[in-house]
Amino acid sequence: MIFDAIIIGGGAAGLSCALVLGSAQHKPFAKEKQIGIITHQKTSHLQNALFNNVLGLKPGTLGADILNDGLAQLRNLYPHINQISKEKVLSVTKQDEHFIIETNKNSYASTIVVVAVGYTSLMHIDGLKSYIEPHPRAATEKDRIWLKNEDHLIEKNLYVAGTLAGWRSQFAIASGSGAHVATDILTLWNGGKHTKVHDKI
Ligand SMILES: Cc1cc2nc3c(=O)[nH]c(=O)nc-3n(C[C@H](O)[C@H](O)[C@H](O)COP(=O)(O)OP(=O)(O)OC[C@H]3O[C@@H](n4cnc5c(N)ncnc54)[C@H](O)[C@@H]3O)c2cc1C
Repeated sequence: MIFDAIIIGGGAAGLSCALVLGSAQHKPFAKEKQIGIITHQKTSHLQNALFNNVLGLKPGTLGADILNDGLAQLRNLYPHINQISKEKVLSVTKQDEHFIIETNKNSYASTIVVVAVGYTSLMHIDGLKSYIEPHPRAATEKDRIWLKNEDHLIEKNLYVAGTLAGWRSQFAIASGSGAHVATDILTLWNGGKHTKVHDKI
């Protein structure tokens, strides 16, 4: 099977992107799309984080709980999104019209890839190294990186979201970046006509 879109990383940006893509399940242009998210959670910045300053999150919310609850929210609401857990991505390479994503356990093909693995310089994914530059919005001594992009797009069908896209490390910013990329992908699937997903009471 070739996925239509695979998100790499299940932190703030990756999970937000997956939730918005999942919520478009009833839109005709998104109905048949095969979507996956690779969730290797060990190195997430959420593991040690404590949130008091995020609108909508109860003060004292633990990042570790968001990692678990976010996956459960995605599973319960949008079970059609394939959750590929406990696999670490090792390489992303272009092959004809799609990307091949190699993990420590499997190999996947996808037309669109969203990279949302955080901005640590310890990120080692072959195929992405040529896009790595020093992070434009982080203290130099922290040695953070971004993948050079324009409005989240690295090259055709290859997106980056969250801190690795060059945004400052705040939960709301990373989540918003993931949601932004999701609406860009939905707009692409909608033939370029701008779209979003709103639930109503
Ligand atoms: C201690 C601490 C406290 C913080 N407190 C606050 C706060 O009070 N308020 C606030 O707004 N923000 C806070 N933050 C910042 C916030 O947590 C980050 O901005 C946010 O998590 C960044 O989101 P992201 O999606 O870019 O990266 P992450 O949330 O780190 O997600 C990256 C994901 O990619 C996965 N991954 C990495 N490599 C691979 C790979 N090769 N294959 C597959 N998956 C991979 C990781 O495991 C992780 O799940 C805090 C951060 C820390 C560390």
